[in-house]
Amino acid sequence: MNLLSPTPDAVDELVCSARGCRSEAAWGLLWNNPKLHTPERRKVWLACDGHREHLEQYLGARSFLRDVVPVSELPVVDVS
Ligand SMILES: [Zn+2]
Repeated sequence: MNLLSPTPDAVDELVCSARGCRSEAAWGLLWNNPKLHTPERRKVWLACDGHREHLEQYLGARSFLRDVVPVSELPVVDVS
């Protein structure tokens, strides 16, 4: 059995992905565009509390949204 588990892209700066927003991100929105990405791939958008709903709706309207997790559960690039 070879089940593919989703693999979120690693993030570095935990800053909200909404345009013009520099707030600290609290949430990771995991999404996948089946036309561009393999099924187990998870692109990550970061969202502050104020932009989470907006970004969720944007991705949800396109059927791209797969999961929403706290940033503490995201893989982070080691920049040390
Ligand atoms: Zn924001």
